[in-house]
Amino acid sequence: MAVSIHPSVDRGVKPGSGNFSGGTLKCGCSDKVVKIEIKGDVAHNHACGCTKCWKPTGATFSIVAVVPRDHLLVAENGDKLHIVDLSTAIQRHACHQCGVHMFGRIENKDHPFYGLDFVHPELFEQAGSAAPGFAAFVSSVIESGVDPADMPRIRTRLKELGLEPYDCLSPPLMDAIATHVVKSKAS
Ligand SMILES: [Zn+2]
Ligand SMILES: [Zn+2]
Repeated sequence: MAVSIHPSVDRGVKPGSGNFSGGTLKCGCSDKVVKIEIKGDVAHNHACGCTKCWKPTGATFSIVAVVPRDHLLVAENGDKLHIVDLSTAIQRHACHQCGVHMFGRIENKDHPFYGLDFVHPELFEQAGSAAPGFAAFVSSVIESGVDPADMPRIRTRLKELGLEPYDCLSPPLMDAIATHVVKSKAS
């Protein structure tokens, strides 16, 4: 039996349309749904094994991507949102009723990813947004209760799905962080 990574990729990663022009993220409520409007496509979509990202029940990984923060608009029922943990670098705004995280925002202007909001593309009402391309913080799933003995199977499955497993972020994102560090030291 194949290990479950996340319901949206377990039967294969669906490629994006390549011209996704934006859409609406919806929370899990049936009434007074929180709606977030996103302009344009997402970037750096990936599976994340950290313990902080929201994932649906039963999923081993979350699926998370970024958008420029000025491409994100809280459109409806924003009064239902609350910040899950004020002490984390990425402040996750969740629906207090269904618990779904609608977006994560960085308020620290010195953070390498300041200006980007984190969203879960599976919440899009519309199909076609950019597909996940790698898996980050893979070893961290052990912190959520995965048996360390299952890690080889999980890494094999991620590779089969075309989601190269990394134990931190992907090389381009690690390079972006290091570049930010160099630039902030120079200024
Ligand atoms: Zn909700
Ligand atoms: Zn994460």
